[in-house]
Amino acid sequence: MPLPVEQNDAGETSLDPADWDEFRAVAHGLLDDMITHIETIRQRPVWQRPSDEARARFDRPLPHRPRDLGDVVDDVRTHIMPFATGNLHPSFMGWVHGAGTPIGMVAEIVAGGLNMNCGGRDHAGLVVEQQIARWMSEVLGYPDGASGLFLTGSSMANFVALTIARTEAMGQSVRETGLRGTDRQLVAYTSTEAHSCIAQAMQLSGIGSANLRTIVVDAAGRMLPGALRAAIDQDRVSGFLPFLVVGTAGTVNTGAIDPLAEIAEIASREGLWFHVDGAIGALAMLSDTLQGLFKGIEKSASVALDFHKWGQVPYDAGFLLVRDGDAQKRTFAQPAAYLQRADRGLAAGETWPCDLGPDLSRGCRALKTWMTIEALGADRIGGSIAHTCRLAGHLAERLERHSSFELKAPVALNIVCFGIRGADSEFVRKLVLDLQDSGLAAPSWTTLNGELVVRCAIVNHRTTVADIDAFIDTLDQYLAGSSG
Ligand SMILES: *Cc1c(COP(=O)(O)O)cnc(C)c1O
Repeated sequence: MPLPVEQNDAGETSLDPADWDEFRAVAHGLLDDMITHIETIRQRPVWQRPSDEARARFDRPLPHRPRDLGDVVDDVRTHIMPFATGNLHPSFMGWVHGAGTPIGMVAEIVAGGLNMNCGGRDHAGLVVEQQIARWMSEVLGYPDGASGLFLTGSSMANFVALTIARTEAMGQSVRETGLRGTDRQLVAYTSTEAHSCIAQAMQLSGIGSANLRTIVVDAAGRMLPGALRAAIDQDRVSGFLPFLVVGTAGTVNTGAIDPLAEIAEIASREGLWFHVDGAIGALAMLSDTLQGLFKGIEKSASVALDFHKWGQVPYDAGFLLVRDGDAQKRTFAQPAAYLQRADRGLAAGETWPCDLGPDLSRGCRALKTWMTIEALGADRIGGSIAHTCRLAGHLAERLERHSSFELKAPVALNIVCFGIRGADSEFVRKLVLDLQDSGLAAPSWTTLNGELVVRCAIVNHRTTVADIDAFIDTLDQYLAGSSG
């Protein structure tokens, strides 16, 4: 029996505001607050721990009744905005975080308002995503026919690329039979400096991270091609099936760039899929001065990159570009009655994003990316990327000239790793945490050659030479305070 429908019940059942003018006023106020928040970011600490009061605010029972929107927004102002950590502040140098832009923020309002489902169908969201794919093909030197897909981040993009490489190596039947059907063990190669998500992708794929060979690097953290060749030869002799090599364009520890052209040549000769983890570095191709460092990236079979890092697009906006778009489709397209295509209407379009990756329902990450690139222009974004590299160079130079510090790795791009002369790991650990707690600066750390080092990744487009100099002053004061 059908449920009874009440007359004129829209006021009770629709979730739209009862008073649009009132809603408009609150929404405009919040937008204004956010613009001011970004504009005045320097006046606040880099980071502060969420207060006990703020934590308690988010430990309440599920609200069953509506609350005034103005009050909800006040909670956002009081309990969320002061305690958020991304990389808005120019003295944030931890990990590798993008800073976002006001344009990206506004784009998110549009994307949220239109609420496009970009898994498929014939609509503007997909058209914009395809535009980004063509732009990235152009930037990375890929041919027509390449396909691109937004994903949460490079962790997912690397995993998706690995899955495509596996399917290409084993044939499409591996999708049904699984890896049991293979008579030889698949093995992949990357460097010892590769991001941990490569090993995780091997785990998720079922191939297993024990079958990931980690190739040694030179003193600058770059994969040694000779060692790669030797490892492949050895595996062939032992009866393994090499299928993939992952080069890194900008390692997470130090920003090192693997010799991509040499790896491409080895992969081509050996018939391996050559994937580039360009999470950090691939977008440096937007800079004329940096482009040359990535020679060989254009020969890869796929590239993972993050617009949310150096591209400054708000989180999240990972991206995968695949040279052979058909290969991507062979790995992911699934027949489903409810996803049938047509030559017109909403069901038009031969290839939908859901044919290219594991997501079906997905938001429109393309819009914020497109608006950011359109409004700023690729050259300006490339310029800001090059600028952060110059800032890293400036930081490295000041540290080197200073008797208390020593660089712990060459500065290839925008990451500076350093130690404090005569200090042990415990001191470095405390220094990093004390600086973060102080709200004056937020470096992070990593371990290089078994030693904990301070790590500064300059990703924020707001950071200036004066910020770097202020950071050195902060370090000086800290050392003076801890020795006195
Ligand atoms: C950040 C990073 C990743 C992971 O990317 P997410 O977007 O955080 O998932 C992978 N590889 C490298 C080199 C990275 O720097």
